Formats: sequence, C-alpha cells, structure tokens
Amino acid sequence: MPNLKTTVLIIGAGTGGYPCAIRLGQLGVDAILVEKALPGGVCLNWGCIPSKALISATKLYTKAQEAADMGLEFSGAKVDLPKMQTWKAGIVNKLTTGVRGLVKGSGTQYIEATAEIVSPKQVVLRYADGKPDDTVETEHIVVATGSVPISIPGFEIDQKRVLDSTGALALDKIPGEMVCIGGGVIGLELGQTFQRLGTKLTVLEGLDRILGTVEKDCAALVNKQIIADGGTVHTKARATGWEERDGRAIVKADIDGKPVEIPADVILLSVGRRPVAKGFGLEKLGVQLDERGFIRVDKRQATSVPGIWAVGDVVGQPMLAHKASHEGEVLAEVLAGKNAINDARVIPNVVFTEPEIASAGLGAQEAKDAGYTVDIGKFPFSVSGRAMAIGEAHGFVKIVTDQADGRVLGVHIVGPEASDLISEAALAIEMGAFAEDISLTIHPHPTLGEAVMEAAKHAIGEAVHIPNRRKR
Ligand code: NAD
Repeated sequence: MPNLKTTVLIIGAGTGGYPCAIRLGQLGVDAILVEKALPGGVCLNWGCIPSKALISATKLYTKAQEAADMGLEFSGAKVDLPKMQTWKAGIVNKLTTGVRGLVKGSGTQYIEATAEIVSPKQVVLRYADGKPDDTVETEHIVVATGSVPISIPGFEIDQKRVLDSTGALALDKIPGEMVCIGGGVIGLELGQTFQRLGTKLTVLEGLDRILGTVEKDCAALVNKQIIADGGTVHTKARATGWEERDGRAIVKADIDGKPVEIPADVILLSVGRRPVAKGFGLEKLGVQLDERGFIRVDKRQATSVPGIWAVGDVVGQPMLAHKASHEGEVLAEVLAGKNAINDARVIPNVVFTEPEIASAGLGAQEAKDAGYTVDIGKFPFSVSGRAMAIGEAHGFVKIVTDQADGRVLGVHIVGPEASDLISEAALAIEMGAFAEDISLTIHPHPTLGEAVMEAAKHAIGEAVHIPNRRKR
C-alpha cells in the first residue's frame, strides 16, 4: 500500500532530473526527486565539472611553462596531483550542495533512495541505511537515469589498470604511460590532460580518424597537438586485450591489420556510453526503446506509455548535460499544463581538448548532404590580434551558410575559448540569422569574438582582414 503521494516522481538527480525538479517546484507542481548516489549526476560528480577543473589547472601549468616567449619565466613549477584533486573535490562539493539547496528551495522533496517502478503509478523507494521501504503513488514518472560507460571484451573496468572516466578523474599519481582506447571526447579530453602533466599518451581509435563527430579540419588540429606533445595516435586500431607483465599492462591491438603490443601504466577505456533504461522496473511497463536501447520520446518528452516521461542521456544522443537540462525544463512546463515542446534548432557541442573544439548546427558536408549549396567563411586565429596577445594564435572559425540566402547553417570553431565563443553561433542559428546579421553586428575589439564576425564577413565576400574567396 502506498504511504507517500505526489504528482510527479523524478528518478535521477542528474542534469536532466534536477532542473526538471526545480522547475516543477517553481511552477507549484507537487514533486519528489529520487537519487541513489549524489545530486548532480555524472556531470557534476564524475564528468563535466571535475574534468574541466583538472583541464583548466593543467592548462595553466602548460601556459606557465610556455610563457618564456612573453618574457615570463617561472622556475620550480611542479604538480601536486593529490592537492589538485582536493581543489577539484571542493568545487564539486560546492556545486552538489548548491543543487540540494536549489531543489529544496523550490519546494520539491529530495529523497536519497533507489527507486523501483512497480506500475505506471507506483514506485518503491529502497534505502541504503536499512530504513523500511516507502511506496509512492504518483500521477507521473520522469525517467532521468542517464548513461554508463560501455566496456569491451578483454577490458573489464577495475579502476586500477583499466579505468573509465571516473577512475581517470580520481588518479592521484601521474601515470607514466596511458593507452587510451577510443579517440572520442572522453579519451582525448582526459588523455591530453594527463599528457600535459607528463604522461606519454597513445590513442587507439577504431575508425580512420579521431573525434568522428566533429568537423574533420577541427579534429585534425587536435591530432596534430597530441603528436606535437609527444603522443601517438593510431587509427583503424582495434584493442584485443591486455596482460600484466613485469609490473606493467601490455595492451594488445591490431593496427591496420598488424598485431602490436603497447606498454602502459593505465588503460583508459572511452568507447562510448549506453543508456540506463533497464534494471529499475521500466521494462515491465512496455516503454518502447530504440534499436540502441534509448527510450523513445516525442517532442514533449513523453514515452510510449501514458504518464511515463524521460529526459537526458537515456533518451538518446547527443549525451550532453545542456541537452538534458533543456529537456528537463521543457518537461516541467508540460507537466505543469503549459503548451511547451522541445523544438530547439541546435544543440551546441564542445570538446575541451587542446585546442578546444565547439560547434553548432550543420557541418559543411552535412549541409551538402541535406541538399544545400553552401558558402564557407573561414577566419584563422593566426591573424587575430587578441589571439596573438594571449599566446594562442591557432585554429579558426568556420561558418557554413546557405548560398541561396546567406542563412547560417553551422558554425565550427577550433582554438582559444571556442567553448565560450560558440554561444553566439547557437543564438544566431536559433534566431534564423543570416551571415550578414553577424557581419553587421559590431563586435568589441580586441576580442576573440571578432573572429566569428570576420568568418561571417568572409562567407559573404566582405572580409577586411583576410583575402576574400569571392567578390560580391
Ligand atoms: P565517444 O562516442 O565520444 O567516443 C568513442 C570513440 O571510441 C569513438 O571515436 C569510437 O569510434 C571509438 N571506439 C569505439 N569502440 C572502439 C574500440 N573497440 N576500439 C577503438 N576505438 C573504439 O564516447 P566517449 O568519449 O566515451 O564519451 C561518451 C559520451 O560522453 C559522449 O557521447 C559525449 O557526448 C559525452 N561527453 C561529452 C563531453 C563534452 O561535451 N565535452 C565530455 C565527455 C563526455
């Protein structure tokens, strides 16, 4: 028999679930947020935030070493990884405590428990401390259970030799050699972080290039940087297993059809993530999944079963925190009876590699495949005064426009602060802007943002600081 009652029960307090819970509270909808681990999910605890803390600290370390050209010499710079980890943990703690406070402040109840769905209207809550279970009667269930790393045969994650991102983010000793299986986002962000601290990095990527989801010319600069920093990138590489030999891990792989052995202190397994859509009662309800196991949802985040809703990684790619939050907030409006749908035109994507890559909208080939005749505007940071002044004059901004009317279809940035520069592009595409709109918007000087304006000018043949490819 239910002993608790609510209107909405949300399973999972990650970046999909907690914004949904807060928004529901703000909108006056009775809601309970249930989480078995920590508020903030992977992003705050074991993903985006801790990784960005380590990335920014190591970037500062590299910049200090490279500052001699600017007339600055630092002697005795050294890395205290345990201390860096403590600093990182402080940031995570501040943010997760903040999330708890925000949820409570909104009026939504936060419960630390493991949820199991027993029917479309009933959820059992089990407590780690042995407290008797609660049964909640609810009108709606929101599934925001996220995703977990995929492992491959021969590489069981033990967080000692074979690490996933959580294990890599918790290292308190800089590995001498790291083999990274999977040249995607996680492998390269974390691989390059340890590379900057002195680790020798080897990347094994199954496809014919790293970072297959970003523009080829952007990914090429990251590839070049890994090699310039003493690392190795093997493409068309399939890791087949590993063994312990003389106190080291020996990774066995087929590279372009040839067997090789690579020694390592740690192996970072980063071959993708899979949705968590099973194991907590959802399968009993007959909720439809797609062929990859993601929950199918419509534009209101409704699943195939009335009263069951889903947001975040568990509903599909891209598995990004900002996508999850947007879905969670849209769903809260839907559940509050508002006329809301998820109709975002673009979901910007950022890879915090060195150099950073950020994109919004269609790639050049993607746009052509979609039937557009495109114009491309490209502006290199090598001629940006600001990029030179911060010692990071590498990379470019590329704008893809529809030749028919100049509408911005996509923007791709590789280089300094690409992660922050991309928001202007996302807004432009969301607003249906033309390259001319960006070109005629006065951008402050001297800033990196001018590169976005210059790329737009280049797309319409009106560039001032670089030669134009075609005249108007
Ligand atoms: P990913 O999909 O980015 O990359 C996995 C890579 O592994 C791919 O290039 C794939 O070709 C390769 N691969 C797969 N199987 C392989 C094998 N057996 N041998 C060699 N290579 C193999 O996955 P990820 O890096 O694990 O990241 C998981 C998810 O986390 C991503 O979907 C991403 O959206 C998210 N994430 C995002 C950010 C960010 O936005 N900055 C950061 C970290 C993670």
